[in-house]
Amino acid sequence: MSFTTIGQIKKGMKNVRESKQFEKGSLSNIEQVFIFGLDVKRKAKKKIKISPAFTGASKEKLKRGESVADFSKIVIDRDFLLDIFKKICEIRATFGSGNKQSLSKFMKAIKNGKIDFMKLQKNVATSNQKYFSSISKKIGINRELLYSIAFSVYKPIFELCAAEKQSFMEDYKWKKGSCPVCGTAAAMAKFEKEVGRRLLWCPLCGTEWVFRRIKCPFCDNENQDSLRYFYLGEKSSYRVDVCDECKGYIKTVDERKRSKDEKTIFEAEDLMTIFLDTLAEKEGYKKF
Ligand SMILES: [Zn+2]
Ligand SMILES: [Zn+2]
Repeated sequence: MSFTTIGQIKKGMKNVRESKQFEKGSLSNIEQVFIFGLDVKRKAKKKIKISPAFTGASKEKLKRGESVADFSKIVIDRDFLLDIFKKICEIRATFGSGNKQSLSKFMKAIKNGKIDFMKLQKNVATSNQKYFSSISKKIGINRELLYSIAFSVYKPIFELCAAEKQSFMEDYKWKKGSCPVCGTAAAMAKFEKEVGRRLLWCPLCGTEWVFRRIKCPFCDNENQDSLRYFYLGEKSSYRVDVCDECKGYIKTVDERKRSKDEKTIFEAEDLMTIFLDTLAEKEGYKKF
């Protein structure tokens, strides 16, 4: 699940702060972006039309192995988009003086149509970094900054769209390691408390889906000899599952090692476990 209240964000970020992996300033910046996301979600409901994102029968699509949504087709009110882009640029401008010039360049490019909203939406939906590289050269702003601004704006909208299919997806056993709603590669996993089902998480739309316990989400490898995991200490509820076929890794929350009321909110868990990314990369594994 994603953050649904400001209280959850505050609590999640407090835990991250206590893990001492970030500078104080950068965490309060991240917190502001999460709060911005909640705000977008709340306001977006009346400003977007999500039905065009779903064409054809979802069940049939899943059977054919196709993801059910096309986020590039969500219709979003233009003034609303302008408004939220302006807002995120204002927030980002408070993070440090370095980016101010770039942010005003970005707003200008949006207002004069040099950056097309439809294209932006489509390329965030498909995580197409090539597009962001070319736009970044065209208007002269850093690619990561450009992508992260667009991501902050569209992600909450995509989450709203995906939520439509949540109950439908809940118990569906999907064979792929990419999101059944939008096709993005899984970013984290968890083992549920009760029966230890394995669920994967989509970092773009927040969908969680049931996946085989012994299978690589990235190359479908099911050979037990080349699938391993490591963790730090018996008590830790985190582990990293690795595949020696494709050298992919996925961080996993083991809810069986936690109390019942400790909910897994992947955005926070992802930040809590930055040290595991460093470890996995050191061992020669990569993120997909
Ligand atoms: Zn997704
Ligand atoms: Zn693999």
